[in-house]
Amino acid sequence: MSEAISQFTNACEVVDVHEHHMPEVALSRDVNLLKLFQQSYAAWTSYVLPSAPKATSSLTSAATEPTTWEAVAPFLEKSGSNAFVRNLVRGVCDLYGVAETGITRENWEAVDASVRLRHKNVNWPGEVIGRAGIKRIVTDPFLDPLLDPRPVLGESYDAVLRINAFALGWHPEARDHNGNSGHALLRRLGMEVKTFDDYCAAIRELVAGCGRRNHIALKNALAYDRDVSFDEPNEELARQAWGQISPPPAARKAFSDFMVDLFCQLAGEADLPVQTHLGTAILSGSHPLRITPLIERHPRTRFLLMHLAYPWSRDLLGMAFVHRNVWLDLCWSFLLSPSHFKLALHEAIEVLPDESRMMIGGDCLHVEETFAAIESARRLVGEVLNEKVASGYSRAQDAERLAARVLGQNAREFFRMS
Ligand SMILES: [Zn+2]
Repeated sequence: MSEAISQFTNACEVVDVHEHHMPEVALSRDVNLLKLFQQSYAAWTSYVLPSAPKATSSLTSAATEPTTWEAVAPFLEKSGSNAFVRNLVRGVCDLYGVAETGITRENWEAVDASVRLRHKNVNWPGEVIGRAGIKRIVTDPFLDPLLDPRPVLGESYDAVLRINAFALGWHPEARDHNGNSGHALLRRLGMEVKTFDDYCAAIRELVAGCGRRNHIALKNALAYDRDVSFDEPNEELARQAWGQISPPPAARKAFSDFMVDLFCQLAGEADLPVQTHLGTAILSGSHPLRITPLIERHPRTRFLLMHLAYPWSRDLLGMAFVHRNVWLDLCWSFLLSPSHFKLALHEAIEVLPDESRMMIGGDCLHVEETFAAIESARRLVGEVLNEKVASGYSRAQDAERLAARVLGQNAREFFRMS
Protein backbone atom coordinates (compact mmCIF):
# COMPACT_ATOMS: atom_id res chain seq x y z
CA MET A 1 0.00 0.00 0.00
CA SER A 2 1.15 3.53 -0.79
CA GLU A 3 2.90 5.41 2.00
CA ALA A 4 2.51 8.72 0.19
CA ILE A 5 -1.04 9.50 1.32
CA SER A 6 -0.27 8.63 4.93
CA GLN A 7 2.72 10.95 4.82
CA PHE A 8 0.50 13.62 3.29
CA THR A 9 -2.19 13.30 6.00
CA ASN A 10 0.50 13.40 8.70
CA ALA A 11 1.78 16.70 7.28
CA CYS A 12 -1.65 18.38 6.83
CA GLU A 13 -2.45 21.27 9.11
CA VAL A 14 -5.49 20.59 11.27
CA VAL A 15 -8.36 22.87 12.18
CA ASP A 16 -9.94 21.13 15.15
CA VAL A 17 -13.65 21.96 15.24
CA HIS A 18 -14.49 20.52 18.64
CA GLU A 19 -12.67 20.35 21.97
CA HIS A 20 -13.67 20.96 25.58
CA HIS A 21 -10.53 22.88 26.47
CA MET A 22 -11.34 25.07 29.48
CA PRO A 23 -8.89 26.92 31.69
CA GLU A 24 -10.08 25.08 34.84
CA VAL A 25 -9.02 21.74 33.36
CA ALA A 26 -6.72 22.11 30.35
CA LEU A 27 -4.58 24.76 32.09
CA SER A 28 -4.64 23.21 35.57
CA ARG A 29 -1.17 22.88 37.12
CA ASP A 30 -2.35 20.04 39.32
CA VAL A 31 -2.53 17.10 36.92
CA ASN A 32 -1.10 13.61 37.35
CA LEU A 33 -1.35 10.36 35.40
CA LEU A 34 -4.47 9.23 37.28
CA LYS A 35 -6.22 12.53 36.58
CA LEU A 36 -5.52 12.19 32.85
CA PHE A 37 -7.51 8.96 32.97
CA GLN A 38 -10.23 10.30 35.28
CA GLN A 39 -10.78 13.39 33.12
CA SER A 40 -10.91 11.52 29.82
CA TYR A 41 -13.32 9.24 27.99
CA ALA A 42 -11.46 6.31 29.56
CA ALA A 43 -13.42 7.19 32.74
CA TRP A 44 -16.68 6.56 30.84
CA THR A 45 -15.87 2.85 31.09
CA SER A 46 -16.70 2.96 34.79
CA TYR A 47 -20.14 4.61 34.82
CA VAL A 48 -23.09 4.26 32.55
CA LEU A 49 -24.77 7.57 31.91
CA PRO A 50 -22.40 10.38 30.95
CA SER A 51 -25.12 12.96 31.61
CA ALA A 52 -25.00 12.11 35.32
CA PRO A 53 -24.00 15.22 37.34
CA LYS A 54 -20.86 13.38 38.43
CA ALA A 55 -19.39 13.99 35.00
CA THR A 56 -19.31 17.76 35.50
CA SER A 57 -18.93 18.26 39.22
CA SER A 58 -15.95 15.92 39.37
CA LEU A 59 -14.14 18.22 36.94
CA THR A 60 -13.72 21.10 39.32
CA SER A 61 -14.47 19.91 42.82
CA ALA A 62 -12.48 16.70 43.08
CA ALA A 63 -9.06 17.00 44.65
CA THR A 64 -6.22 15.33 42.80
CA GLU A 65 -5.75 11.88 44.27
CA PRO A 66 -2.23 10.49 44.16
CA THR A 67 -1.65 8.05 41.32
CA THR A 68 -1.26 4.45 42.44
CA TRP A 69 -0.89 1.30 40.38
CA GLU A 70 -4.13 0.02 41.96
CA ALA A 71 -5.98 3.10 40.66
CA VAL A 72 -4.53 3.02 37.13
CA ALA A 73 -4.49 -0.74 36.53
CA PRO A 74 -8.31 -1.07 36.11
CA PHE A 75 -8.12 1.26 33.09
CA LEU A 76 -5.13 -0.52 31.61
CA GLU A 77 -6.14 -4.10 32.33
CA LYS A 78 -9.86 -4.41 33.12
CA SER A 79 -10.89 -1.94 30.35
CA GLY A 80 -7.70 -2.27 28.34
CA SER A 81 -9.57 -3.34 25.19
CA ASN A 82 -11.77 -0.24 25.09
CA ALA A 83 -11.00 2.23 22.29
CA PHE A 84 -11.13 5.32 24.58
CA VAL A 85 -8.48 3.69 26.77
CA ARG A 86 -6.35 2.63 23.78
CA ASN A 87 -6.45 6.18 22.42
CA LEU A 88 -5.41 7.87 25.66
CA VAL A 89 -2.71 5.32 26.43
CA ARG A 90 -1.20 5.78 22.97
CA GLY A 91 -1.12 9.55 23.42
CA VAL A 92 0.46 9.37 26.88
CA CYS A 93 3.03 6.82 25.68
CA ASP A 94 4.02 8.98 22.69
CA LEU A 95 4.23 12.22 24.64
CA TYR A 96 6.01 10.80 27.70
CA GLY A 97 8.47 8.56 25.85
CA VAL A 98 7.21 5.07 26.74
CA ALA A 99 5.84 4.05 23.33
CA GLU A 100 8.01 0.92 23.34
CA THR A 101 6.76 -0.53 26.63
CA GLY A 102 3.39 1.10 27.29
CA ILE A 103 2.44 2.11 30.86
CA THR A 104 3.51 -0.75 33.12
CA ARG A 105 3.79 -1.70 36.78
CA GLU A 106 7.51 -0.97 36.41
CA ASN A 107 7.36 2.51 34.82
CA TRP A 108 4.09 4.10 35.99
CA GLU A 109 5.77 6.13 38.76
CA ALA A 110 8.20 7.68 36.28
CA VAL A 111 5.37 8.46 33.83
CA ASP A 112 3.31 9.98 36.65
CA ALA A 113 6.24 12.17 37.72
CA SER A 114 6.68 13.37 34.12
CA VAL A 115 2.99 14.22 33.79
CA ARG A 116 3.04 16.25 37.01
CA LEU A 117 6.22 18.06 35.98
CA ARG A 118 5.01 18.90 32.47
CA HIS A 119 1.71 20.29 33.74
CA LYS A 120 3.53 22.67 36.09
CA ASN A 121 4.82 24.39 32.94
CA VAL A 122 2.30 26.89 31.46
CA ASN A 123 3.70 26.25 27.98
CA TRP A 124 2.98 22.50 28.00
CA PRO A 125 -0.58 22.58 26.54
CA GLY A 126 0.54 24.83 23.66
CA GLU A 127 3.55 22.63 23.03
CA VAL A 128 1.35 19.51 22.74
CA ILE A 129 -1.10 21.28 20.41
CA GLY A 130 1.87 22.34 18.27
CA ARG A 131 3.18 18.78 18.13
CA ALA A 132 -0.28 17.65 17.03
CA GLY A 133 -0.09 20.10 14.10
CA ILE A 134 -3.32 21.84 15.16
CA LYS A 135 -3.52 25.43 13.93
CA ARG A 136 -6.98 26.49 15.16
CA ILE A 137 -9.34 25.08 17.78
CA VAL A 138 -13.07 25.54 18.36
CA THR A 139 -13.74 24.83 22.02
CA ASP A 140 -16.98 24.18 23.90
CA PRO A 141 -16.20 25.40 27.44
CA PHE A 142 -19.30 23.95 29.07
CA LEU A 143 -18.24 24.96 32.59
CA ASP A 144 -18.74 28.56 31.44
CA PRO A 145 -20.81 28.90 28.25
CA LEU A 146 -20.02 32.64 28.11
CA LEU A 147 -16.24 32.23 28.12
CA ASP A 148 -14.29 34.26 25.56
CA PRO A 149 -11.50 31.74 24.94
CA ARG A 150 -8.85 34.06 23.52
CA PRO A 151 -7.66 35.91 26.67
CA VAL A 152 -7.19 32.62 28.59
CA LEU A 153 -6.49 29.94 25.99
CA GLY A 154 -4.83 32.00 23.28
CA GLU A 155 -5.38 33.48 19.84
CA SER A 156 -5.75 30.12 18.10
CA TYR A 157 -9.05 29.52 19.92
CA ASP A 158 -12.66 30.29 19.11
CA ALA A 159 -15.63 29.00 21.09
CA VAL A 160 -19.18 27.85 20.59
CA LEU A 161 -22.10 29.19 22.61
CA ARG A 162 -23.68 26.16 24.28
CA ILE A 163 -27.44 26.77 24.30
CA ASN A 164 -28.57 24.07 26.76
CA ALA A 165 -28.99 26.27 29.82
CA PHE A 166 -30.95 28.85 27.82
CA ALA A 167 -33.22 26.27 26.19
CA LEU A 168 -34.16 25.02 29.67
CA GLY A 169 -34.52 28.46 31.29
CA TRP A 170 -38.22 28.43 32.23
CA HIS A 171 -37.24 29.37 35.82
CA PRO A 172 -34.17 31.06 37.34
CA GLU A 173 -33.40 27.84 39.21
CA ALA A 174 -33.71 25.57 36.15
CA ARG A 175 -30.33 24.10 35.21
CA ASP A 176 -28.92 21.99 32.41
CA HIS A 177 -26.97 18.76 32.96
CA ASN A 178 -23.80 20.78 33.45
CA GLY A 179 -25.41 22.75 36.29
CA ASN A 180 -25.71 26.01 34.32
CA SER A 181 -28.69 28.37 34.77
CA GLY A 182 -29.71 30.42 31.72
CA HIS A 183 -30.98 33.26 33.93
CA ALA A 184 -27.71 33.44 35.88
CA LEU A 185 -25.72 33.58 32.63
CA LEU A 186 -27.94 36.35 31.23
CA ARG A 187 -27.55 38.30 34.50
CA ARG A 188 -23.78 38.19 33.99
CA LEU A 189 -24.38 39.96 30.68
CA GLY A 190 -26.42 42.61 32.51
CA MET A 191 -29.81 41.27 31.41
CA GLU A 192 -32.42 41.01 34.18
CA VAL A 193 -35.34 39.00 32.82
CA LYS A 194 -38.86 39.24 34.25
CA THR A 195 -41.19 37.95 31.52
CA PHE A 196 -41.23 35.38 28.72
CA ASP A 197 -40.95 38.25 26.22
CA ASP A 198 -37.95 39.71 28.09
CA TYR A 199 -36.37 36.29 27.91
CA CYS A 200 -36.82 36.02 24.13
CA ALA A 201 -35.35 39.52 23.73
CA ALA A 202 -32.40 38.50 25.92
CA ILE A 203 -31.77 35.43 23.74
CA ARG A 204 -31.65 37.74 20.70
CA GLU A 205 -29.10 39.96 22.50
CA LEU A 206 -27.09 36.92 23.51
CA VAL A 207 -26.75 35.69 19.91
CA ALA A 208 -26.05 39.22 18.64
CA GLY A 209 -23.11 39.37 21.09
CA CYS A 210 -21.43 36.18 19.86
CA GLY A 211 -18.80 37.98 17.79
CA ARG A 212 -17.63 40.04 20.78
CA ARG A 213 -16.97 36.85 22.77
CA ASN A 214 -15.27 35.02 19.84
CA HIS A 215 -18.20 32.62 19.67
CA ILE A 216 -18.32 31.40 16.07
CA ALA A 217 -21.17 28.90 16.33
CA LEU A 218 -24.00 27.76 18.58
CA LYS A 219 -23.78 24.33 20.20
CA ASN A 220 -26.84 22.22 20.87
CA ALA A 221 -25.91 19.45 23.34
CA LEU A 222 -29.48 18.92 24.48
CA ALA A 223 -29.22 15.19 23.68
CA TYR A 224 -27.78 14.99 27.22
CA ASP A 225 -30.83 16.77 28.72
CA ARG A 226 -33.80 15.54 26.65
CA ASP A 227 -34.67 13.91 23.31
CA VAL A 228 -33.75 15.68 20.06
CA SER A 229 -37.27 15.71 18.61
CA PHE A 230 -37.61 19.49 18.47
CA ASP A 231 -41.21 20.00 17.45
CA GLU A 232 -42.76 22.94 15.64
CA PRO A 233 -42.90 25.88 18.08
CA ASN A 234 -46.08 26.04 20.18
CA GLU A 235 -45.75 29.45 21.83
CA GLU A 236 -48.89 29.18 23.91
CA LEU A 237 -47.76 25.92 25.52
CA ALA A 238 -44.19 27.19 25.88
CA ARG A 239 -45.46 30.23 27.82
CA GLN A 240 -47.18 27.89 30.28
CA ALA A 241 -43.76 26.70 31.51
CA TRP A 242 -42.57 30.24 32.27
CA GLY A 243 -41.81 30.91 35.93
CA GLN A 244 -42.51 27.37 37.10
CA ILE A 245 -39.81 25.55 38.99
CA SER A 246 -41.12 22.22 37.73
CA PRO A 247 -43.38 22.69 34.70
CA PRO A 248 -45.52 19.79 33.41
CA PRO A 249 -43.55 17.68 30.90
CA ALA A 250 -45.49 18.92 27.84
CA ALA A 251 -44.92 22.60 28.73
CA ARG A 252 -41.27 21.96 29.56
CA LYS A 253 -40.74 20.29 26.18
CA ALA A 254 -42.64 23.06 24.36
CA PHE A 255 -40.47 25.70 26.08
CA SER A 256 -37.20 24.14 24.96
CA ASP A 257 -38.61 23.35 21.50
CA PHE A 258 -39.56 27.03 21.17
CA MET A 259 -36.16 28.29 22.33
CA VAL A 260 -34.21 25.87 20.11
CA ASP A 261 -36.27 27.02 17.15
CA LEU A 262 -35.55 30.65 18.04
CA PHE A 263 -31.81 29.93 18.31
CA CYS A 264 -31.81 28.19 14.92
CA GLN A 265 -33.66 31.11 13.32
CA LEU A 266 -31.22 33.64 14.85
CA ALA A 267 -28.24 31.50 13.82
CA GLY A 268 -29.46 31.51 10.22
CA GLU A 269 -29.88 35.30 10.28
CA ALA A 270 -26.41 35.80 11.82
CA ASP A 271 -24.75 33.13 9.60
CA LEU A 272 -23.62 31.20 12.68
CA PRO A 273 -23.53 27.39 12.30
CA VAL A 274 -25.37 25.21 14.82
CA GLN A 275 -23.14 22.36 16.02
CA THR A 276 -25.41 19.59 17.28
CA HIS A 277 -24.71 16.46 19.32
CA LEU A 278 -26.43 13.36 17.91
CA GLY A 279 -26.23 9.70 18.85
CA THR A 280 -24.99 8.15 22.10
CA ALA A 281 -26.12 10.39 24.98
CA ILE A 282 -29.62 9.75 26.35
CA LEU A 283 -29.68 6.87 23.92
CA SER A 284 -33.44 6.47 23.49
CA GLY A 285 -33.81 10.10 22.34
CA SER A 286 -30.75 10.84 20.24
CA HIS A 287 -31.44 9.14 16.90
CA PRO A 288 -30.48 11.61 14.15
CA LEU A 289 -33.75 11.31 12.19
CA ARG A 290 -35.52 12.91 15.16
CA ILE A 291 -33.87 16.24 14.32
CA THR A 292 -34.87 16.22 10.63
CA PRO A 293 -37.97 18.46 11.05
CA LEU A 294 -35.83 21.15 12.76
CA ILE A 295 -33.34 21.04 9.89
CA GLU A 296 -36.15 21.28 7.34
CA ARG A 297 -37.78 24.23 9.13
CA HIS A 298 -34.50 26.18 8.93
CA PRO A 299 -33.11 25.80 5.40
CA ARG A 300 -30.98 28.96 5.81
CA THR A 301 -29.27 27.64 8.94
CA ARG A 302 -26.10 25.57 8.58
CA PHE A 303 -26.17 22.50 10.86
CA LEU A 304 -22.91 20.77 11.81
CA LEU A 305 -24.05 17.34 13.00
CA MET A 306 -21.67 15.51 15.29
CA HIS A 307 -20.11 12.15 16.07
CA LEU A 308 -21.48 10.38 12.97
CA ALA A 309 -24.56 10.06 15.27
CA TYR A 310 -23.00 6.82 16.47
CA PRO A 311 -24.37 4.12 16.28
CA TRP A 312 -26.66 5.47 13.53
CA SER A 313 -24.04 6.72 11.08
CA ARG A 314 -25.80 5.38 7.98
CA ASP A 315 -29.02 7.24 8.89
CA LEU A 316 -26.97 10.40 9.35
CA LEU A 317 -25.30 9.96 5.96
CA GLY A 318 -28.76 9.62 4.42
CA MET A 319 -29.70 12.97 5.97
CA ALA A 320 -26.50 14.61 4.73
CA PHE A 321 -27.27 13.25 1.25
CA VAL A 322 -30.74 14.80 1.24
CA HIS A 323 -30.28 18.10 3.11
CA ARG A 324 -27.94 20.76 1.72
CA ASN A 325 -27.78 22.60 5.07
CA VAL A 326 -26.06 19.64 6.80
CA TRP A 327 -22.32 19.25 7.41
CA LEU A 328 -20.61 16.55 9.50
CA ASP A 329 -18.25 16.96 12.45
CA LEU A 330 -16.64 13.50 12.67
CA CYS A 331 -15.19 14.12 16.14
CA TRP A 332 -15.52 11.43 18.82
CA SER A 333 -16.79 8.79 16.35
CA PHE A 334 -13.27 7.50 15.78
CA LEU A 335 -12.60 7.45 19.54
CA LEU A 336 -15.71 5.30 20.06
CA SER A 337 -14.81 2.82 17.32
CA PRO A 338 -11.92 3.30 14.89
CA SER A 339 -13.07 0.36 12.77
CA HIS A 340 -16.65 1.61 12.45
CA PHE A 341 -15.26 5.05 11.62
CA LYS A 342 -13.32 3.64 8.68
CA LEU A 343 -16.39 1.85 7.37
CA ALA A 344 -18.52 4.99 7.71
CA LEU A 345 -15.85 7.25 6.19
CA HIS A 346 -15.68 5.01 3.12
CA GLU A 347 -19.43 5.41 2.67
CA ALA A 348 -19.43 9.12 3.51
CA ILE A 349 -16.88 9.84 0.79
CA GLU A 350 -19.17 8.10 -1.71
CA VAL A 351 -22.52 9.51 -0.54
CA LEU A 352 -21.86 13.15 0.36
CA PRO A 353 -22.72 15.62 -2.39
CA ASP A 354 -19.40 17.48 -2.34
CA GLU A 355 -15.99 17.58 -0.65
CA SER A 356 -16.81 20.42 1.75
CA ARG A 357 -19.00 18.40 4.11
CA MET A 358 -16.66 16.75 6.62
CA MET A 359 -14.52 18.16 9.45
CA ILE A 360 -12.69 16.67 12.41
CA GLY A 361 -12.14 17.43 16.07
CA GLY A 362 -10.93 15.71 19.20
CA ASP A 363 -13.73 16.40 21.74
CA CYS A 364 -11.35 16.18 24.73
CA LEU A 365 -10.60 17.92 28.03
CA HIS A 366 -6.81 17.48 28.27
CA VAL A 367 -4.33 18.14 25.49
CA GLU A 368 -2.83 14.64 25.79
CA GLU A 369 -6.14 13.10 24.72
CA THR A 370 -6.53 15.72 21.98
CA PHE A 371 -3.03 14.90 20.71
CA ALA A 372 -3.94 11.21 20.53
CA ALA A 373 -7.33 11.90 18.91
CA ILE A 374 -5.92 14.05 16.13
CA GLU A 375 -3.10 11.60 15.55
CA SER A 376 -5.76 8.84 15.23
CA ALA A 377 -7.80 10.97 12.83
CA ARG A 378 -4.79 11.53 10.56
CA ARG A 379 -3.95 7.83 10.56
CA LEU A 380 -7.52 6.63 9.91
CA VAL A 381 -8.25 9.20 7.20
CA GLY A 382 -4.94 8.21 5.57
CA GLU A 383 -5.79 4.49 5.74
CA VAL A 384 -9.24 4.99 4.20
CA LEU A 385 -7.92 7.19 1.40
CA ASN A 386 -5.15 4.69 0.72
CA GLU A 387 -7.81 2.02 0.33
CA LYS A 388 -9.83 4.28 -1.96
CA VAL A 389 -6.77 4.74 -4.20
CA ALA A 390 -5.82 1.07 -4.07
CA SER A 391 -9.32 0.04 -5.18
CA GLY A 392 -9.24 2.50 -8.09
CA TYR A 393 -12.06 4.67 -6.67
CA SER A 394 -9.87 7.80 -6.33
CA ARG A 395 -6.65 9.02 -7.89
CA ALA A 396 -3.88 9.93 -5.45
CA GLN A 397 -4.13 13.67 -6.07
CA ASP A 398 -7.90 13.57 -5.49
CA ALA A 399 -7.38 11.68 -2.24
CA GLU A 400 -4.82 14.25 -1.07
CA ARG A 401 -7.13 17.14 -1.89
CA LEU A 402 -9.90 15.51 0.16
CA ALA A 403 -7.55 14.81 3.09
CA ALA A 404 -6.49 18.47 3.25
CA ARG A 405 -10.13 19.51 3.15
CA VAL A 406 -11.33 17.14 5.90
CA LEU A 407 -8.42 17.86 8.21
CA GLY A 408 -8.45 21.64 7.93
CA GLN A 409 -9.61 23.55 4.89
CA ASN A 410 -13.31 22.70 5.17
CA ALA A 411 -13.43 24.01 8.74
CA ARG A 412 -11.69 27.27 7.80
CA GLU A 413 -14.28 27.89 5.11
CA PHE A 414 -17.26 26.68 7.12
CA PHE A 415 -16.51 28.85 10.16
CA ARG A 416 -15.35 31.78 7.95
CA MET A 417 -11.96 31.78 9.72
CA SER A 418 -9.57 34.44 8.51
ZN1 LIG B 1 -18.15 17.29 22.95
